[in-house]
Amino acid sequence: MSYKLNISTRKEALIKLMDEIIKNENEIIQALLEDFKKPPFESIATEISYIIWELKDTIKNIEKWAKIKNVIPSIFNFPSTDYIVKEPYGKVLIIAPWNYPFQLAVGPLIAAVAAGNQVVLKPSELTPKTSAIVLKIIEKVFHHQHVKVIEGGIETAKKLLAQRWDYIFFTGSAAVGKIVAKAAAEHLTPVTLELGGKNPCIIDETANLKLAAKRIVWGKFLNAGQTCIAPDYILIQEEMKSHFVNFLKNEITNAYGENPKNSPDFARIVNEKNWHRLVSMIEPEKVIFRGETDIEDCYIAPTLIEENDLESTLMQEEIFGPLLPIITYKDEKEIDKIISRYEKPLALYVFTDDRKFAKKTILNHSFGGGCINDTIIHFANKRLPFGGVGHSGIGAYHGQLSFDTFSHHKGIVKKANWLDLNLRYAPYTDSKISTLKKLLNWL
Ligand code: NAD
Repeated sequence: MSYKLNISTRKEALIKLMDEIIKNENEIIQALLEDFKKPPFESIATEISYIIWELKDTIKNIEKWAKIKNVIPSIFNFPSTDYIVKEPYGKVLIIAPWNYPFQLAVGPLIAAVAAGNQVVLKPSELTPKTSAIVLKIIEKVFHHQHVKVIEGGIETAKKLLAQRWDYIFFTGSAAVGKIVAKAAAEHLTPVTLELGGKNPCIIDETANLKLAAKRIVWGKFLNAGQTCIAPDYILIQEEMKSHFVNFLKNEITNAYGENPKNSPDFARIVNEKNWHRLVSMIEPEKVIFRGETDIEDCYIAPTLIEENDLESTLMQEEIFGPLLPIITYKDEKEIDKIISRYEKPLALYVFTDDRKFAKKTILNHSFGGGCINDTIIHFANKRLPFGGVGHSGIGAYHGQLSFDTFSHHKGIVKKANWLDLNLRYAPYTDSKISTLKKLLNWL
């Protein structure tokens, strides 16, 4: 059975997928709640509605995205018609993480199907309820030779990676990203690696501190800090620190109440292993706000940490949890020095009213993407590429770029026969060389 399906069949499958997701909305919310107490609002906003929006956009634009695209022909090929054909890669493997377990599994799948591929999807084993509902929905919508969900953990992923694929799309940690890249290299399989990093959040003296605190608290503690583009650490001028910390404290209390453990709007750490990893990063004497933990509930409170030591455990790797270190700087040189200690991050945020400083910060550092005066929201614009650079990833997706990611772009020249200039053919006479030089000078 060939799965180079025509566009209308792909579109029908995507419409069916959308219907099935809408039908199962409550079950998805419940699964996310059971997996890590993901607040229903966050499940609707960052998982289900996002995917429905992605589906609607894809269904609306699939013909346009798949269309053969004419390009301006080269003068060297005159006369010709040149165009790009988007061809499905063939068999695609998608490996998903647990932190947005529905969105990051189904999002790439939509694009892979739209582009005409056969897909095998491995959701994360750390969010088993969500993995099960993804399996149920996919089995209902697709023939198993078209799209198949294979549940399982590391061993399953390894077995899948040992097979030959035409494309691999991986979302997860940089450490596993390297394993995926090695396995892909074995068969020269192209990859997208959507990884993580230590995302700086810089605040200068011109910033609106109250609003900055509100937007940072939202972006950091959404999903209990388990977001690849969450601010990892704050860089703030020394003199402004205590003022800003007060705003942060207020915003945390405004959002999650006097005891965030009782808030239905604050998620849990995904498992005990990650809880232990995060708790071992907390040095109690550095905690300046909250810091409560409870292993029974995999709970760690939204916690502010005064960090002056870049060698601390907290500052060694991506935090990926609700701990927010606050580091002070004296001048711009120090900002550069701190940021450049780390691999290129997936995101960078700068809060400032100084346009020159914002521009300089954006241009001087290499990172996946980011915001001026906000956090996270660049994710929500389909016209912006989403992906990392260096250790934060290879490739990017979202919107049309997702469709393009899962397509091979085949460049074609259709040469006309009514004229055949002799210039390129041997024998290469002196007069041909001179004509060629003149032509190159003229262009
Ligand atoms: P992970 O790398 O541990 O796991 C991701 C997937 O890889 C899972 O499906 C898992 O089963 C599989 N896997 C784990 N170990 C493996 C191995 N040895 N060989 C083969 N496969 C293996 O990541 P995670 O803990 O699920 O997710 C957290 C990480 O993902 C963070 O670093 C975060 O920044 C990153 N992330 C990035 C994005 C992005 O869009 N760039 C989005 C979400 C998460």
